[in-house]
Amino acid sequence: MQHQLMQLPYAQNALEPYISEETLSFHYGKHHAGYVNKLNGLIEKTKFADMSLEEIIKHAEGAIFNNAAQVFNHDFYWHSLSGTPSAPSVELSDLIERDFGSTDAFREAFLSAAAGLFGSGWVWLVITKEGGLAIEQTSNADTPIRRATVPLLTCDVWEHAYYIDRRNARPEYLENWWQLVNWEFASDNLARVTNDPIAGYNQSCNDDSEVCDYVDTMQEQEHTPT
Ligand code: FE
Repeated sequence: MQHQLMQLPYAQNALEPYISEETLSFHYGKHHAGYVNKLNGLIEKTKFADMSLEEIIKHAEGAIFNNAAQVFNHDFYWHSLSGTPSAPSVELSDLIERDFGSTDAFREAFLSAAAGLFGSGWVWLVITKEGGLAIEQTSNADTPIRRATVPLLTCDVWEHAYYIDRRNARPEYLENWWQLVNWEFASDNLARVTNDPIAGYNQSCNDDSEVCDYVDTMQEQEHTPT
């Protein structure tokens, strides 16, 4: 099966002035699209040809894993952003307060983890199998869904995410990224994991992309914050 480049949930200039249209167009149209095309070429006539993206990520190694995981990670990244201001649900706010102390403390911990990640990779807000919130760093293409944590939100800290706008100034990119966090997406993900849909927080992942399929299946997993 041919994997598709997801449709962006907004226009390519929708994240300005925090992320420019030029950055978005290269990041989505060249880098993200490149991973999709490479993956489709690599899996042709292999046992991975008919697998879902999630199955490939869980079973493949090497170049096939790298390209599949990068497709998923970028799908998740675009959904993690929005040009429309949003706020976390009460449930997510409560968990952030419980596990990090405050939203400000979470912000500082998350952005520090992102600034401090060596080389290329991703920083994630996840739910651990014990049911707590945690910040997870992954290198290169690595992704939480390979393990037993469930992602709620991600930030891409590969240099291609910010070099056009910020050159090598990753902390500047992170400050701008924070302004774009799609709290509805993170809140939806939490609601699905806890099987507790919250009115008004069920619409952020409503297309038929593979990342939304994955989000839809989250509620069947046994990760229940306590
Ligand atoms: Fe990227």
